Amino acid sequence: MINEGNNIYSVFDEILSKEEKEKMLKQKAKVLWLTGLSGSGKTTIAKVLERDLHLQGFLTQLLDGDNIRAGINNNLGFSEEDRTENIRRIAEVSKLFINCGVITINCFVSPTEQIRNQAKAIIGEENFIEIFINTPLEVCEARDTKGLYAKARKGEVNNFTGISAPFEDPQTPSIKVETENQTVEESANEVLVHILPLIKV
Ligand code: ADP
Repeated sequence: MINEGNNIYSVFDEILSKEEKEKMLKQKAKVLWLTGLSGSGKTTIAKVLERDLHLQGFLTQLLDGDNIRAGINNNLGFSEEDRTENIRRIAEVSKLFINCGVITINCFVSPTEQIRNQAKAIIGEENFIEIFINTPLEVCEARDTKGLYAKARKGEVNNFTGISAPFEDPQTPSIKVETENQTVEESANEVLVHILPLIKV
């Protein structure tokens, strides 16, 4: 309320805390950060995982490379600088969801330790769960779900992770999922079993 005579502004002392929102939602807010090569299975696993969590009464938000790059990051490319800015914005958006008590499932290649550490620093280590979708390059390339490996081999895509740009394996992921000899359901269930104790109150 504004008292124009005295120029006194009455404002809320504090905004509601993450903990108050988590209490209402009966869950612990975390960012489930899926990292891995293109075609490793991040989005496929995340979709199944989100549906499973939804059925169990958890409030979630899935953030995916393609929807973010089509929207909030539509002015960014794949140079080193733009990849860094891409992840910075994603991490800031994730932090907003976390502060709202929401479990955020992020599917981004996020190829280097530096990039993942940057995200972890913004989000906060205690809220950041690193999930390494560890599918060998040959398997991802054979899947080639978006036809991008074929294009990258022909030199039609610059800085393509695994072909013309590096992917550094996470050294200490919370969980490593080997999708090569698993069904989608098996991989998603492995992640679900691992994260449930971390998000339950
Ligand atoms: P990314 O999001 O990492 O780029 P996608 O999820 O888009 O990868 O593509 C992964 C592809 O691999 C899909 O076609 C999916 O059906 C297939 N796939 C086969 N086995 C698995 C598995 N165990 N987990 C996840 N995806 C798998």
